[in-house]
Amino acid sequence: MKNYSIWKDNIKLTDFQVLDKDIETDILIIGGGITGISILYQLKNTKLNTILVDQGKIGLQTTANSIGKLTFLQNDLLDKIRNSFGDEIGKKYLESQINAINMVISIIRKEKIKCDLIKVPSILYTNNINEIEKIKDLKRFLEKCNIRVNLESTSLIESKYMIKVDDTYIFNPLKYIYGLARKLNNIYENTKIKKIIKKDKYYLCYSNKSIIKAKNVVIASHYPYFNLPFIFPIKATLEKSYLSASKYLGNDISLISYSNPFISIRTYLDYLIYLSNSHSINKDCDDKNNFNELIKKINDLNLRPNYLWSNIDIITNDGLPYIGKIDNNMFIATGYNTWGLATSTLASTIIKDLVLNKDNQYVSLFDPKRENLWKIMGGFGAIYKSLSGYISGFTKNKDKKKCTHMGCPLIYNEIENTWDCPCHGSRFDVDGKVIMSPANKDIK
Ligand SMILES: Cc1cc2nc3c(=O)[nH]c(=O)nc-3n(C[C@H](O)[C@H](O)[C@H](O)COP(=O)(O)OP(=O)(O)OC[C@H]3O[C@@H](n4cnc5c(N)ncnc54)[C@H](O)[C@@H]3O)c2cc1C
Repeated sequence: MKNYSIWKDNIKLTDFQVLDKDIETDILIIGGGITGISILYQLKNTKLNTILVDQGKIGLQTTANSIGKLTFLQNDLLDKIRNSFGDEIGKKYLESQINAINMVISIIRKEKIKCDLIKVPSILYTNNINEIEKIKDLKRFLEKCNIRVNLESTSLIESKYMIKVDDTYIFNPLKYIYGLARKLNNIYENTKIKKIIKKDKYYLCYSNKSIIKAKNVVIASHYPYFNLPFIFPIKATLEKSYLSASKYLGNDISLISYSNPFISIRTYLDYLIYLSNSHSINKDCDDKNNFNELIKKINDLNLRPNYLWSNIDIITNDGLPYIGKIDNNMFIATGYNTWGLATSTLASTIIKDLVLNKDNQYVSLFDPKRENLWKIMGGFGAIYKSLSGYISGFTKNKDKKKCTHMGCPLIYNEIENTWDCPCHGSRFDVDGKVIMSPANKDIK
């Protein structure tokens, strides 16, 4: 059994150079996940000199640990957005996701990227009687937006109600990133930005090996490793999920539960990938127990895990991502609510248009400084939930190894052999090396 994601076994990674000399540039992109690489791709034919740095190897963090679906049927997220903002905004978000998927598909075709892309319908189901009406309402809403929705059934899982939509895909996200990156210049690996200082019209960005003087900075580091001017922790929480890949012979399928319990399933070559046990990172953080529960679920399907891994994504309180300008000549794209594989491409076009001072229909929808801060913060409930989790993380584990980000006690994840932070999602390998931000210092 392998304790890393299946995507990492199916690819030969390309190495990119370290940036070890001081440099001046029009745009610096910090982070080489799907967001950063997509932004670099969009900017390649502009006159602006753009460079991208990643603290480690590109693509290996959140993107390489995802389940690799390109779909607009995203569990209960659309309903969360409709509840926060109403049906008009819900419709706009839905259209944005369909556009984003089409953009990724046209990039794959144009650049001839071999990333095991398969067109497969997306199925949404529930086994929870209380959710049937919610899916029926979602079906009506999708139909009102001119999307064809069919009822569906499958013997793979137990379900009380199931719908299906077409024009969605599954792919290998790591092959996609490397396929795109090989067509691009100015990518630097093992170059970690540790500090950013604003000086006159420039940002001075200090890496471990150099100083980058940039007119514009794009934060594509997933969790923004700095808090100001963007007070991130009160605008979002982090959610961890557990995944397995097991040998499986069956037709291609892409399935997702509506909400409770959250389950996502897809096939990849002759494997079935199964995601479950999602939880807010400061609650239920017994990784071993979560992996054991996942294994039990796949054993019930008569499968055994060949791969086990976990992943963390950023969940915003109102359900919409944060994409856009956060300060003069500083931009961000994050908070995709576990649906960043296509949204990151949409983000890349928004950031490009903002940098070039062009209009873009999605600027106000995803504005990271959007108004109604109270709603964004989710009111007292969300603040209490977030703070109480951190405080209990600190007190329960106070004798453990400490995270170098904000000193939160780390928890040992004995399946993946990592030290994981239950406050902000940083992860360290057994030697104390950072493998997941926001921490940017190793443990001594
Ligand atoms: C369990 C799970 C399943 C998912 N499945 C799907 C799915 O099926 N479909 C979908 O659309 N989305 C999915 N997602 C969401 C998706 O994976 C993410 O939204 C997306 O990968 C985020 O990409 P990113 O580039 O923003 O972040 P990342 O991939 O994490 O990239 C950030 C990069 O920044 C670098 N970095 C960080 N700090 C620094 C620094 N200081 N200096 C330099 N570099 C730095 C890191 O090394 C990293 O490479 C899933 C998420 C989870 C948790």
